[in-house]
Amino acid sequence: MSRDSLSIKSRPTNFRDIKGQDDVVADILDLAREGSFPAFSIFHGPSGSGKTSSALALARLLKCNDYNFSKKTICKKCEGCQSAEGANLFHVNCAVENIRDHFVGEIRQGYKFYSNPWSCAGPRVHLYEEIHCWSKMDHAKLLKLTEMKNVQNVFIFTTTVLEQIYKPLVSRFTPFSFRSVSLENAVQVLIGAANCAGLNISEDDLWKIAEAHYPDLRSAVNLLPLFELRRRRQPDIPVRNLL
Ligand SMILES: [Zn+2]
Repeated sequence: MSRDSLSIKSRPTNFRDIKGQDDVVADILDLAREGSFPAFSIFHGPSGSGKTSSALALARLLKCNDYNFSKKTICKKCEGCQSAEGANLFHVNCAVENIRDHFVGEIRQGYKFYSNPWSCAGPRVHLYEEIHCWSKMDHAKLLKLTEMKNVQNVFIFTTTVLEQIYKPLVSRFTPFSFRSVSLENAVQVLIGAANCAGLNISEDDLWKIAEAHYPDLRSAVNLLPLFELRRRRQPDIPVRNLL
């Protein structure tokens, strides 16, 4: 069984399941439908607002030959959909990986890898999560990397603090703004996560958990398995005593 946290395991895999971001999702889908999704973009907004999920859903969309734009789902049948999950994706979490040690070399290798001929439709996606965790000098190095000409690459950076990113990098990238999710949407996310993990938690309890943690949705989702155990031990006590 996977030991990934529930917030990762229950992450939406399609735009259809990304809650409370209708405007920005419509922008992304319209651009993708026209085949004009920008080569460089920054997804910015609060933690837990769906930036990484949207980037991963876009990577799936871009390798699907027959994406269903009205249902916002991949076809699951074409060559791209049949290829390995993340086959067109180079994914770096800048909060975890440090560019200064060995990573520049790995990025170069990754870039070389993704510059090679690619049998499936669509470009390769380079996703740099939490890009503000790297220094301005690192951003300048990345800027050089993005200047390599190759139309078959899409670079997406995500950040919670746009103002901390090296300005020349920001000005090169198209900004996509994600909002804080509403409490109603937060509850929907918790219901989805509880279903995904097969947890038996009442909707009333999920509302109270969402309220207590709002807007930090990730911690609320990751608490659910433990909450269910505590609830089973103590079925009658108020939610606040179980958090
Ligand atoms: Zn497909």
